[in-house]
Amino acid sequence: MALTKEQVLKQYFGYDKFRPLQADIIDWVLYGQDCMVLMPTGGGKSLCFQVPALMMQGITIVISPLIALMHDQVQALQANGIPSAYINSSLSGAERFAIERQCKAGEIKLLYISPEKLFSNGYLDWIKSLQVSMVAVDESHCVSVWGHDFRPEYTQLHVLKSALPNVPFMALTATADRVTRKDVLTQLGIPEARVFISSFDRPNLSLSVQPGRNRLKTIQKFIQERPRKAGIIYCLSRKNTEQLADSLLKVGISARCYHAGMSTDERAKVQDQFLRDDIQVICATIAFGMGIDKSNVRWVMHYSLPANIESFYQEIGRAGRDGVKADTLLFYSYNDLIVRKDMLAQSELPAEMKEVQLAKLDRLKQYAEAEICRRRILLSYFNEEVDRDCGNCDVCKNPPIRFDASVLAQKALSAIARTNERIAMGMLIDILRGSNNRRIIEHRYHEIKTFGAGRDLKYEEWADYIQQMLNSGIMDIAYDEQHAFKLNNASWSVLKDGKKVQLVRFRPFEEKQAEREANAAPKEKTKREVVRDELFERLRLLRKRIADNLDIPPFVVFSDATLSDMAQKKPISPAEMLNVSGVGEQKFRQYGDAFLKEIRDFIKTLGKSGGEKGDTAKISFSLYEEGLSLDEIAERRGLSPVTIVSHLVKFFEEGHPVDLRKFVTTVEFNAIAQAMKVLGTKKGEPVKPVFDLLQGKYDYHKIKVVMALLDK
Ligand code: ADP
Ligand code: ZN
Repeated sequence: MALTKEQVLKQYFGYDKFRPLQADIIDWVLYGQDCMVLMPTGGGKSLCFQVPALMMQGITIVISPLIALMHDQVQALQANGIPSAYINSSLSGAERFAIERQCKAGEIKLLYISPEKLFSNGYLDWIKSLQVSMVAVDESHCVSVWGHDFRPEYTQLHVLKSALPNVPFMALTATADRVTRKDVLTQLGIPEARVFISSFDRPNLSLSVQPGRNRLKTIQKFIQERPRKAGIIYCLSRKNTEQLADSLLKVGISARCYHAGMSTDERAKVQDQFLRDDIQVICATIAFGMGIDKSNVRWVMHYSLPANIESFYQEIGRAGRDGVKADTLLFYSYNDLIVRKDMLAQSELPAEMKEVQLAKLDRLKQYAEAEICRRRILLSYFNEEVDRDCGNCDVCKNPPIRFDASVLAQKALSAIARTNERIAMGMLIDILRGSNNRRIIEHRYHEIKTFGAGRDLKYEEWADYIQQMLNSGIMDIAYDEQHAFKLNNASWSVLKDGKKVQLVRFRPFEEKQAEREANAAPKEKTKREVVRDELFERLRLLRKRIADNLDIPPFVVFSDATLSDMAQKKPISPAEMLNVSGVGEQKFRQYGDAFLKEIRDFIKTLGKSGGEKGDTAKISFSLYEEGLSLDEIAERRGLSPVTIVSHLVKFFEEGHPVDLRKFVTTVEFNAIAQAMKVLGTKKGEPVKPVFDLLQGKYDYHKIKVVMALLDK
């Protein structure tokens, strides 16, 4: 009998529930209808065509623009026991021929193919000769000139729909804007297709922004707080990636750079090591990440400001694809914004495009300077209505406290005025704090009225407030005059007309961090988080060994989410193992035993205390499974046989193979059963009356055994 979609999900992918919209989309395809699927990166698009592909007769054709992505997806499918293959320019003639033969023979359920190949050497006719159940166009925004990644080969794709008019088409993308969306459907020849839009929210990603000072120190601390957790740092320039990777290496963090200036081989090598968890941190230009499916990237950082919210969201979207908690951090300074503006001004874009890009940059500035929930800003950018704060961004966790900073601002502005608008940040702070350094004496700045007027604040406090004053426009900065501060109209109304200034109370990074953690603690518990306990570590190492042996990346064996679920559930039987999210039948067959053994070994080391609640019975059971006798188990664990039997009875009742008959002789069984009958004792009722009736001749645990046996 054919499997239901829920059964396919469980058996092949090991998951229990569909995410929102997945089930609706699958049903729609099974009705033979066309559709478009809009989901954010990591949202779970692939299952939308992979599940129906397994349910329908014939072969599903997946059009995909990136060779690396095809390879990863097919590898992941094969790891789940799903017959799939790809055809692209990386294959040899013989390899291609073999795959073509398998497709013809109906042995392949999903075939990935690049558009170039599709339109070469009569491939289209060949595809028409197959029994095609569905066509999925991945990264379908590439078909539109409006999309951010237009590919000319994609524009011929409308031919495909005319060639296969009765086959359902599915267009998938993470790019949501309205113009692109409509254009994609027209270009693909499915203008009437139903559009499924899932929320672009990725609640597992935490959002935070830090002022762009002491970046290196902050980054080091951030990484050291996340041992062994993989992450990506996006930088603006190649040189920037190299320097950062070097500095991190020097303090013992395994980091490498990645940029378009490196040779293809070098890049492939770095990427591969990252996928295999051999490198923890990648410092990359935007060249990195396209088509990377690594599901266990636990954080993404932006060393400098990205170009717009779309790229920012796509880049942070590469963290936490497994749905488990992941962190993002954007460094922001006014200077970064100016750099971006200059880059735009110097670019070759036509004037109206420049204007659009400038407006986009401004939206990103609003995000970075936000004093309301950052997620609300992001989602409203994607035209999504949000009615509450997220609780998982730095603003939510640590709402800014504003105060009247008029006097403080006057001091700074006055110092700028009295030095004829020639000084930059460092000098301004030195004057305010009354430092007696050589340059101050040289310029006789110690003689001005505001010298030392701001002694009460620390250097970093002043730096923060001055940055805020710049951001809010009450003073200017001349980047072409060694970053000298300049007064503007707003400055003069503060100085002369007593205009009020509000700033956000400064809090050092460490304090914010500590507060954040304190605030976060209760909430995070309910959120999905990778629990990195000792067992998780053992399972992680086992995963790495298996992956290295098979020459595949660890996350293809199991995702972090799966390892975490496994470490918490501690399965010791096949049935329990299959109950872990992400363990499908094929993976169970391949890796189940190795992981079961690791867990059993771990449980045994827990000893008498039994670790967490519920583990103690497991220890007894696994020792029993090893073939130890009741007395041996009791002795080994320092517990009474009665306790051990109650553990085994529990497992027996849950359907595990425990031969309880071994613990009572036939004579004992009959005597106890007889006494229970006389008293009318049922399972779960007190044992003592039976014990008393038998005048204490039979131990409690024997009575418990008989009770359990009679109940079956
Ligand atoms: P996208 O293509 O939209 O970026 P993917 O299809 O790669 O996202 O899915 C992201 C991750 O979420 C994958 O690890 C996938 O296995 C997992 N996933 C998808 N659907 C589910 C589900 N229903 N339950 C649990 N995990 C899921
Ligand atoms: Zn928030």
